[in-house]
Amino acid sequence: MKFKDEVARRRTFGIVSHPDAGKTTLTEKLLLYGGAIQEAGAVKSNKIKKGAASDFMEIERQRGISVATSVLAFEYDGTKINILDTPGHKDFAEDTFRTLTAVDSVIVVVDVAKGVEEQTEKLVEVCRMRQIPMIVFINKMDREGKDAFDLLDEIEQKLGLHVTPLSFPIGMGYDLKGIYNLHQKNVNLFTGETSKDIHNTVKISDLSDPKLNQLLGDTSADQLREELELVQGIYPDFDREEYLAGNLQPVFFGSALHNFGVKELLDGFIEIAPPPRPKNAEEREVKPLEDDFSGFVFKIHANMDPKHRDRLAFVKIVSGKFERNTAYKHVRLGKNLKFSSPNAFFAEKKEIVDVSYPGDIVGLHDTGNFKIGDTLTSGEELHYKGIPSFSPEHFRYINNADPMKSKQLAKGIDQLMDEGVAQLFTLELNGRKVIGTVGALQFEVIQYRLEHEYSAKCSYENLNVHKACWVDTADWESEEFNDFKRVKAKFLAKDKRGQLVFFADSAFSLQMTQQKYPGIKFHFVSEFE
Ligand code: GDP
Repeated sequence: MKFKDEVARRRTFGIVSHPDAGKTTLTEKLLLYGGAIQEAGAVKSNKIKKGAASDFMEIERQRGISVATSVLAFEYDGTKINILDTPGHKDFAEDTFRTLTAVDSVIVVVDVAKGVEEQTEKLVEVCRMRQIPMIVFINKMDREGKDAFDLLDEIEQKLGLHVTPLSFPIGMGYDLKGIYNLHQKNVNLFTGETSKDIHNTVKISDLSDPKLNQLLGDTSADQLREELELVQGIYPDFDREEYLAGNLQPVFFGSALHNFGVKELLDGFIEIAPPPRPKNAEEREVKPLEDDFSGFVFKIHANMDPKHRDRLAFVKIVSGKFERNTAYKHVRLGKNLKFSSPNAFFAEKKEIVDVSYPGDIVGLHDTGNFKIGDTLTSGEELHYKGIPSFSPEHFRYINNADPMKSKQLAKGIDQLMDEGVAQLFTLELNGRKVIGTVGALQFEVIQYRLEHEYSAKCSYENLNVHKACWVDTADWESEEFNDFKRVKAKFLAKDKRGQLVFFADSAFSLQMTQQKYPGIKFHFVSEFE
């Protein structure tokens, strides 16, 4: 197949949702359609129960054995689909944000009864800011839930989206009769069976077709006609360009558990979702069809097996072909690297591949060369943008608890920070090290991993910080800035890249500081223009 056709047939996306909305169940059903797995239960949930670091370790350990859950790839109807897994737990939201830099589109799963939940709001906001095309799947239609119109309203209000339904439910819960596919004008009858080919799809010519009455009964048929009239009155027609631009989000309804409405979603998805998209580097926009290879690291996965310490760096290919045993430039280090056993991912396994294409993810074995955000190219000086660090919310001093192992500790901390587990800050005043994380769970994870992977011990000490803000000013020599530095000396630190950070101990003090120093900017994200 030609290079351009290989690129055109790829769809790389992520599924985001609040925990329990049905992401794992949906992923699994999608894989079943692709024939990538044979039975339900094959996809392991990446769910971490409340506060249980041991859960996390167990999941990571299993992943170390089969990293497959991070990227699930399969073929469907001539399309190569790559699903990038995103952790649902809020403490790992940053992982999810980083993964979202590597997707070309997203499916948002919403629970019909619970509606829009907190994590959904946060994740959708990030997708919206990045203008990632989104499809919404309203799940659990086999249960009683919110009225479809109310829910669509809620999605527009809370998520700031503009929706248009491409399918519409006929009843719900106990009375769920089926789903009307607005796009293909057919009715899919709900049988309550979970087998994938049991569905009964009936084509109807238009809504006045008397077949509708035979299928649904007069009352339901009339109600559907009324509702669809309303749908057409309220919502805009589907427009692919608008969807691709992130301005319009099509909605599908179904039940992942009952494998109902999932095929409609999948067929709709491969028809409208974008192939690999261009990506901005600091230098220029890079297009997938360019001859020269380029890609970036969006995730680093440690091997939890102490006997095999190497890590796997996940590279999203942006342009050109990635070939095995070919020298590529590691732009940050300014050196060439060759990879003899790059991994490609399939539903349940990973395998060595010779060639990968834009949209694909390759896993590169790494002994410490890579950091999140690194760019790899055929030779060009390119730096991909857009893997920012977010202001952490939890802060602790980290101390060495075993003086004989200070080297191991330093190395361990260094590598864990490269993986993006947490952020390290060094206080300007006394050089003390501070770890900042998005969730409290990471502290346990760091302690555990330092001990098990690096034989180092650490202890923590509380530190009262409300937010860390990256400091920026037009004039680093100004009187104002010098005053700020003097007055706030106790609250200043450097991040790993040497950028200046201000630790505000409360929302109030941050506000006061902002007022007092109008010439200084305080950012909550490490990357700013
Ligand atoms: P995740 O946390 O988003 O990955 O959610 P899961 O896929 O693990 O699903 C959470 C729970 O909801 C599980 O008990 C599923 O069996 C259940 N579930 C998922 N989809 C459906 C559905 O369509 N209908 C019903 N009734 N339950 C569902």
